[in-house]
Amino acid sequence: MADSLEDQSLPQQRVTSEYLPVQNSSQSIWQQEAAELAAWNPTSPIPQEADVVIIGAGYAGVATAYHLLKKIDESGGAQKRLSISIFDARGPCSGATGRNGGHLRPDLYGRIPTHMARSGVAAGSEIAAFEIANLRAIEKVIEEENIDCDLKLARVTDVWCNPEAAQRAKANYDVMVNLNLDYMKDVCFNMGEEAEEISGVKGARACASYTAGQLSAYKFIVSLLKSMVDAGRVDAHSHTPVTEILPAKEGGFLVKTPSGTVFARQVVHASNGYVAGLLPEYSRNIIPCKGVCCHIDVPQGAQRPPSLPGSYINRASDHMLSYLISRDNGSIVVGGKASMLTSRREQWYHNVDDGADIDGAKGFYSDYMQKTYRGWEESQAEITKIWTGVMGYSFDTNPHVGVVPGRPGQFILAGFNGHGMPVIFLAAQGLAALILSDETLTCHDVGVPRLFQTSRARIEVAQQYAEEDGDILGTGRAFSQATHSC
Ligand SMILES: Cc1cc2nc3c(=O)[nH]c(=O)nc-3n(C[C@H](O)[C@H](O)[C@H](O)COP(=O)(O)OP(=O)(O)OC[C@H]3O[C@@H](n4cnc5c(N)ncnc54)[C@H](O)[C@@H]3O)c2cc1C
Repeated sequence: MADSLEDQSLPQQRVTSEYLPVQNSSQSIWQQEAAELAAWNPTSPIPQEADVVIIGAGYAGVATAYHLLKKIDESGGAQKRLSISIFDARGPCSGATGRNGGHLRPDLYGRIPTHMARSGVAAGSEIAAFEIANLRAIEKVIEEENIDCDLKLARVTDVWCNPEAAQRAKANYDVMVNLNLDYMKDVCFNMGEEAEEISGVKGARACASYTAGQLSAYKFIVSLLKSMVDAGRVDAHSHTPVTEILPAKEGGFLVKTPSGTVFARQVVHASNGYVAGLLPEYSRNIIPCKGVCCHIDVPQGAQRPPSLPGSYINRASDHMLSYLISRDNGSIVVGGKASMLTSRREQWYHNVDDGADIDGAKGFYSDYMQKTYRGWEESQAEITKIWTGVMGYSFDTNPHVGVVPGRPGQFILAGFNGHGMPVIFLAAQGLAALILSDETLTCHDVGVPRLFQTSRARIEVAQQYAEEDGDILGTGRAFSQATHSC
């Protein structure tokens, strides 16, 4: 049963510039490579009304629309058709989804022991199983919808260079194996000197590999949206920010944009790090934080170094993590480097300017391949593109999914903590089921991990913590909870 806040305690839903996407964002390699899709900017007159208004045309918003339509089709007429309108403040998929690292990595044992310690084995393993199922569901939809988005399944190698961190990783691995979790059979763990040999990462002290994926999330999501718009089943509006939501007298909502007002029966907040703009009660739960990514390649004519077999999570030291995918053409997409960002906090914390670089990032990644991988020393590998993007860091590291407490008819799917790719598709499927239900169901009822359920308690814990300690990432404790891992 969805819980509720006292109505009078709910703040007004009017966005301010600190929560609106900037208009001069940087361009990612994914946007550059898909010029035809990038030129597509759906617009049409603002409808007078819609059954469902979705705010945000990224992975979360588009996947929600997709699952709503799918569920209606599968109901064989039992579920009435809905009019669905999607609004985005910029072009489709111009947020985190269009500028991420392309890594689709289920978390099998990284954060899972922490979840288990906090919430029990069942709750933790539920998340791992959900992320694996998400990978398979994405594979299926891409095949069914015949989407060209460079999906590749390959093994990811997690690497630890710090000897103590390597020991901790091994201890976590042992815990998970001893729980007899079936999916752990896919994980190979190696310690000591063979870790460097196996991973190819200089100084590796432990490594683990398991099945993961990579893709252009930009191509995936824009193609999915385009097919729904072309079929006339979804109405999409680029460059149309939602600026205010008011309750309508007859029930439902007045959703305001600079181009006009829409009457909506239900509203879905899929605006990621910006979500607190229209849902201010989440301002301590979901913080807009910038990440950095770059594309690295060897210059034409230079000898290609050995190609890397799949993807990587490299932990050079504690709080210094880079995620990396190796593409079919041998080029690399890499991002992360949390420790560097901590010292330039104002450039990324509570910052939505994805048009601006973060100082020091370019320098760090300019010789990243040479200093990190065996055999790349003489490669002349160089950055060909660098960009930033805005994530929604979640106070307790978990996404918020469900009916917004105290605001029946409004739903949230946000706060993926920089780890949305292996979560959002099936979370959106669950949210679609909630939207079509009488709103009394919970995440658990619709196949979404119970820790993802948004609730009054989760909102209030973050608010109390902020009052005591200033802000959610201000201390080591909170920071270690909130750093993302892709
Ligand atoms: C640099 C970077 C690298 C990443 N790498 C990875 C990775 O390798 N693997 C992984 O799992 N995750 C990664 N992530 C995280 C992942 O990309 C996100 O979790 C995911 O894309 C979130 O999808 P979303 O739809 O919630 O958000 P978004 O894609 O950001 O979509 C939200 C949309 O809402 C729109 N919007 C905001 N406010 C309004 C408004 N008021 N009105 C209308 N529209 C609005 C925005 O313009 C935006 O298009 C990365 C993120 C970044 C930034």
